[in-house]
Amino acid sequence: MEKPQNGLKDGHVSELYEMTATELAEILRTKKASSVQITESVLNRIDHVEGKVHAYVTLNPESALDMAREADRKIAAGDARPLTGIPIAVKDNMCVKGQRTTCGSKILANFLPPYDATVIRLLRDEGMVILGSANMDEFAMGSSTETSYWGPTHNPWNTDLIPGGSSGGSVAAVAAGEAIVALGSDTGGSIRLPACFCGVTGIKPTYGAVSRYGLVAYASSLDQIGPISRDVSDLALLLNLICGHDPSDSTSVPREYPDFTAFLTKPVGGMTLGLPREFFSKLENPDVERVISEARKVFEGLGVKFVELSLPHLDYGIAAYYIIAPCEASSNLARYDGVKYGHRAENFTGMIDMYCRTRAEGFGPEAKRRIMLGTYALSSGYYDAYYLKAAKIRTLITSDFKRAFEKCDAVFCPTAPSPAFKIGEKIDDPIQMYLTDVFTIPVNMAGLPGIAIPGGFSMGGLPIGLQLIAPHFEEARLVQLSAAFQKETDHHLKRPQL
Ligand code: GLN
Repeated sequence: MEKPQNGLKDGHVSELYEMTATELAEILRTKKASSVQITESVLNRIDHVEGKVHAYVTLNPESALDMAREADRKIAAGDARPLTGIPIAVKDNMCVKGQRTTCGSKILANFLPPYDATVIRLLRDEGMVILGSANMDEFAMGSSTETSYWGPTHNPWNTDLIPGGSSGGSVAAVAAGEAIVALGSDTGGSIRLPACFCGVTGIKPTYGAVSRYGLVAYASSLDQIGPISRDVSDLALLLNLICGHDPSDSTSVPREYPDFTAFLTKPVGGMTLGLPREFFSKLENPDVERVISEARKVFEGLGVKFVELSLPHLDYGIAAYYIIAPCEASSNLARYDGVKYGHRAENFTGMIDMYCRTRAEGFGPEAKRRIMLGTYALSSGYYDAYYLKAAKIRTLITSDFKRAFEKCDAVFCPTAPSPAFKIGEKIDDPIQMYLTDVFTIPVNMAGLPGIAIPGGFSMGGLPIGLQLIAPHFEEARLVQLSAAFQKETDHHLKRPQL
């Protein structure tokens, strides 16, 4: 396969908004453009395509341009860091001080956080340009971004389709050129699934690698923030920035992280990828099957070996997840009562009535479904039957992966069972929607890092993603394998026509 050149198509000079952070950092360093020019290029692009995509809940062009001017000053003073001056979109569940953070919900429609999430502070310290908050499923509950109070985001490859969820806005923004990179969160697949449906690269880091301080909680034992980008070089830069210990998050793990960019050029010959039988037996979509087997050949060409293995408890992943996540959600969402912040019903008689009306008005149907499921499963007498059992399955899934990693360096499988589906197709059938995450959920259950990279296209021209899963804190291995794959292929260089 011929090696693609820098993402530039023949005779086509890329606009600034089309470039990667790695390319733009070089442009900034050599003073070929300023951060203000880059930011203006992205804001113009947003003006042109946001009407079709709806990637953002809140856009802050003025503060973005202020940050870009500040970045240009830093660059001029010789204080630039690797991502200084690069425009980024953040999912609407990360607190940005003084800027509306709604979590895709009416109940937080007017919420102005009094503090920055740790990841937001890190972006600011780096001198990145925060464009605004990207659309998402309400409280990150969903796989399509259709449960957002603000209406759905559209897939840039075909605007009749969902972009995947719940970080659909962050991913669509990167795919459509409405941001250079983005941050999302992933509780059961919310970074990887949309990355797969929109043809971009996204990683869910190991649980505990990135601080959750200031991330609005959905299911605290599963939630993890991660980067989204057009290629794995940008992903490595963002991992360098956001991985690290944070005393403000008690689940953040104190440890050192490598320089992820050092793994972009390491050879992969001699590494072994595991093929989980239980995943492959579920493959029904011929496009996904073809893309997976072609990708396997690419890896084999690089000297990677494949070994079949079994992860017998994966089949229970979705069932156990839909106990654990709603249980944690029902507890986390109890704080939205209309008292201190967020939506409050206007008409009520007494305190209890105020709570009831506020929550009835403020939450959408999917959030209500999860709250009810979780409250039921945690109620006295049912705890052992449901929650405890689900927790045991979680341990079994973790041990399955542990055994698998005795035989391979990483597990290789699809990210989703099919390409993106139509807006409206599954929204009234929760079970079908939940099944979309069959390949991603077990990774969160085990707390492992998982990456989604563009693997190819369906016959109809829609992106299809691969997934690689590594042992805890081996994100670098995923960067290494994905970078080797992206050097051999050009799927990640294709852009949707909007
Ligand atoms: N689709 C899954 C859910 O609805 C996962 C969402 C996520 O990762 N936030 O819970």
